[in-house]
Amino acid sequence: MNKDYILVTGGAGFIGSNFVAQILSSRRSTVINLDKLTYAGNLATIEQFATNDRHIFIQGDIGDRQLIDNLLDKYQPQAIVNFAAETHVDRSIDGPASFIETNINGTFNLLESTRQYWRRLTDDAQKQFRFLHISTDEVFGSLTAQEPAFTELTPYTPNSPYSASKASSDHLVRAYFHTYGLPTLITNCSNNYGPYQFPEKLIPLMILNAFAGKPLPVYGDGQNVRDWLYVEDHCHAIALVLEKGAPGETYNVGGNAERDNLWLVNELCAILDELLPTSPHCPHQQLIQFVQDRPGHDRRYAIDFTKIQQQLGWEPKENINSGLRRTVQWYIDNQAWCQTVTTNKYQQQRLGVEA
Ligand code: NAD
Repeated sequence: MNKDYILVTGGAGFIGSNFVAQILSSRRSTVINLDKLTYAGNLATIEQFATNDRHIFIQGDIGDRQLIDNLLDKYQPQAIVNFAAETHVDRSIDGPASFIETNINGTFNLLESTRQYWRRLTDDAQKQFRFLHISTDEVFGSLTAQEPAFTELTPYTPNSPYSASKASSDHLVRAYFHTYGLPTLITNCSNNYGPYQFPEKLIPLMILNAFAGKPLPVYGDGQNVRDWLYVEDHCHAIALVLEKGAPGETYNVGGNAERDNLWLVNELCAILDELLPTSPHCPHQQLIQFVQDRPGHDRRYAIDFTKIQQQLGWEPKENINSGLRRTVQWYIDNQAWCQTVTTNKYQQQRLGVEA
């Protein structure tokens, strides 16, 4: 086994790419970055690693057994961190099949391949190996305003095809620890925000629409509550769980920042007014429009992260106000990236296709 190699799946997406950046800047590990490059993963996102010889990019599917077997054989990684997934709830409502395929079957395939690889390692290497699966708080279902936050012991009650597929994969990962002894860990994190998030998710969508003077669509009454975490904080938690977490355990990760959607959009508008005072769309708040709610829209998520705080010493560093400001500034400074990933120009150019 090669102690300095980590296989990261989905590392051309939002959280995965932030995690790869953190690993490359803080550790000597080499990252094998396996990503299918769906609409949500983009070469423009990993261009930042192009000159780093500790980054190896492979375009491929976690559901491709032959490919995963070959990668594990060739690189003999000490850890696998599985970010690869279909992640957008609205897309899972319109077409759940790809969520079942990647999130459930893909994770199963990765686990099976990993189990065969791990069985061939020495006893010592088997003990050191880690399979870390990145999951979401959405598997716990929806809370009322009065209910206590989700803990690691909250029963799974997924409500959307997305969260149901993530819940299924979590169960498989857990089962591989209990049945085969594979040293797996799971993190269940709340909503992330920050650089490189694909502009279909709430925060980047609102920022980009506001730039363009387009309506800012808010679902229902805007009172759905999420717990927001800056992506760098999530990546620190993942690195810590990888290093110090106990196999078989799950860790909740949250931002201690419960906010309703309407508050969030108003806050983004206020930051945009301040950072872009000459925009013809000021005050941006005038662009807010309430639209028909998402079917089965979970009302509230909240995370109790006492376990990771007490056992591993993690807590979020960024607060919601400074984190949102950094995020808005990043999108202002990186409009070319937004343009590229939304038109998919980069991939088309590489393939010689006219944009
Ligand atoms: P994302 O949609 O930005 O990125 C997903 C990446 O996975 C993309 O690069 C995509 O190309 C890749 N991918 C998709 N299917 C693949 C396949 N079959 N094989 C290989 N690669 C594939 O997602 P994200 O927001 O970065 O989320 C990453 C992980 O974190 C997901 O598992 C998600 O469930 C979890 N998570 C996300 C959040 C959040 O707020 N974004 C919160 C908690 C947990």
